[in-house]
Amino acid sequence: MILPSLSSRSFLATALLASTLDSSGNLASAAAAADDRLTDTRNIVRCGVENIPVPELLKMEEEFKNHRIVLEAGHGADSNASWVNDPLSINMYLHVIAANETAEGGSVSDTQIKDQIDVLNTDYQTMNIDFQLKNVTRTVRPEWFNVKPSSKEQAEMKRSLRQGGPADLNVYLGCLDPPGLLGYSTFPRDIRENPIDDGVVVLFSSLPGGAAEPYNEGKTLTHEVGHWLGLYHTFQGGCNEPGDFVEDTPAEAKPGFGCPEGRKSCKHSTGLDPIHNFMDYGDDNCLSSFTQGQVVRARDQIAIYRGIKSSKHGGSGSSGGGKQHTGRPGKYHHDRRNSRHEVQKGLI
Ligand SMILES: [Zn+2]
Repeated sequence: MILPSLSSRSFLATALLASTLDSSGNLASAAAAADDRLTDTRNIVRCGVENIPVPELLKMEEEFKNHRIVLEAGHGADSNASWVNDPLSINMYLHVIAANETAEGGSVSDTQIKDQIDVLNTDYQTMNIDFQLKNVTRTVRPEWFNVKPSSKEQAEMKRSLRQGGPADLNVYLGCLDPPGLLGYSTFPRDIRENPIDDGVVVLFSSLPGGAAEPYNEGKTLTHEVGHWLGLYHTFQGGCNEPGDFVEDTPAEAKPGFGCPEGRKSCKHSTGLDPIHNFMDYGDDNCLSSFTQGQVVRARDQIAIYRGIKSSKHGGSGSSGGGKQHTGRPGKYHHDRRNSRHEVQKGLI
């Protein structure tokens, strides 16, 4: 079994990737010394999915590649350029976990939720994917609020709250542990083994208007949903092939913290670093795009592993398939970025 070790490594790495704190515990502003954040051990966690070792990655991708050949053969005369533009609708269930009923305690407002969904759907227009919010649950439970990946509390939380099947997106908002972690997600291929664990967990204060500046414009959810759709970080593999398994994202040696405009970190890459890509680590106001290659990969991933297919794929164009399963508690691969220390302390 490959994935358990992968997940534990990811979170070890997460602890090493951080943003700078100032004396009051807030994130240091601007992109100053952004690259240094990667190795600055004073810091709390920012986001930290490590580069997965290539042999392991190739093994995981092999099955996908074989499925993809079959899937794309099924397109017949219809080219990718056509079917990737077919609209898709994905059901979304949002679970607010709070320590108490204050904003600082995680009880985000309905307005924030609406704004977050708007951001998400705007960001996924490139993929022509629309996320339909079907239900919001609110749970005041301090022992669940500090969500820790792979913990029994997190497993219990998901077991209690998850709704829908493999095609449905479940998002959990809480105060993540380790402090500073902004979010994490499962991959589509995980659904068969850990169906109950499937979903995205995001720091509550990363929602638009939240306290996690400069990560409070809602892009953390966009980023984590990218993983949920099967995308890797743009800097996966660094400058080496096969990178993130997407051809039109130039290779990138390291995450683009802050917004390092004009950076070209790989000598032989095909272009500048994709620092504005949602799957990089930039500040929220730096992230603005997916590439066409990512669109194709994501659509293939969710068609194969989640059964989400456009009508041209023989699907309904919307989610809703699949039964709720019970499964073993989780293992995780992902994360994204940081929050203010004061938030992590919780004010709870
Ligand atoms: Zn990530």
